[in-house]
Amino acid sequence: MPTFDRGWVWLVGAGPGDPGLLTLLAAHALGHADVVVYDALVDQGALALANPDAELVYAGKRGGKPSPRQPDITNSLIALALEGKKVLRLKGGDPFVFGRGAEEARALSQAGIPFRVVPGVTAGVGGLAYAGIPATTRDTNAAVTFVTGHASTGEVPDGIRWPELAKGSPVIVFYMALKHLPTIVERLIDGGRDPADSAAVVASAATPEQRVVTAPLKDLADAAAREGIAPPAIVVVGRTVDFREHLDWWTPAPAAAPPSTAVRTVLDAEDKTVARAG
Ligand code: SAH
Repeated sequence: MPTFDRGWVWLVGAGPGDPGLLTLLAAHALGHADVVVYDALVDQGALALANPDAELVYAGKRGGKPSPRQPDITNSLIALALEGKKVLRLKGGDPFVFGRGAEEARALSQAGIPFRVVPGVTAGVGGLAYAGIPATTRDTNAAVTFVTGHASTGEVPDGIRWPELAKGSPVIVFYMALKHLPTIVERLIDGGRDPADSAAVVASAATPEQRVVTAPLKDLADAAAREGIAPPAIVVVGRTVDFREHLDWWTPAPAAAPPSTAVRTVLDAEDKTVARAG
């Protein structure tokens, strides 16, 4: 395994939930990091692999407070690296898929901080696999498109050409799409997608709380609302969803007692410092 040198930042993907989906490199990095700066979607089971002396810094939303601004996170990564720490930036899924990993890597690069990227299993592929929904099959789709349902403005992204997406991509995988699901469904159908196309919502994929709802596209938003589906969730539209009928292999086990890994520090949104948690 490569050495985790002091003053380096490793941008690491934790996968979607199940800590078993961490890569060997991610587990290696957790065992050697001095400080782990992690996001809301990172599973506690992954943090339990951190070396016991590592400082764990939470950089997500907490208790209704705003999340730290992205520049605050990158500045603290840079500051920690300049202190000579081995800094592990742990992100859910893959750091370069809708995870702002590229922005963080660019800031590190501009600051002259050496970094490594450790890819992870992305929710839109691995999470769907836990619901028995393949990303591609030879029978159904020669292409798959990853789409965010939530632009940085908080709205449905308007840079998407909905008719082209609706008609051109046999399978569409949406991240962050639950909030705007009714609008997304409407835009797809208005754009020419068959209202009866297969669709699913997979929430908390690869965790003990995994929930899956399947419905024809036109009914998907109502079905998800009726079932009380909550984020994080992946939405998938296309005929690969039909494979779930035969490939639904995983029964989530009830959650075990959470590992004793407590949040030790919190990256505070207000004072922009890495503060000791109470
Ligand atoms: N970098 C991450 C995506 C971050 S964006 C990745 O590669 O997976 C956050 C979105 O990811 C969530 O809103 C949700 O759409 C999706 N997501 C992440 N983890 C998930 C999980 N366990 N189950 C379902 N969706 C998940």
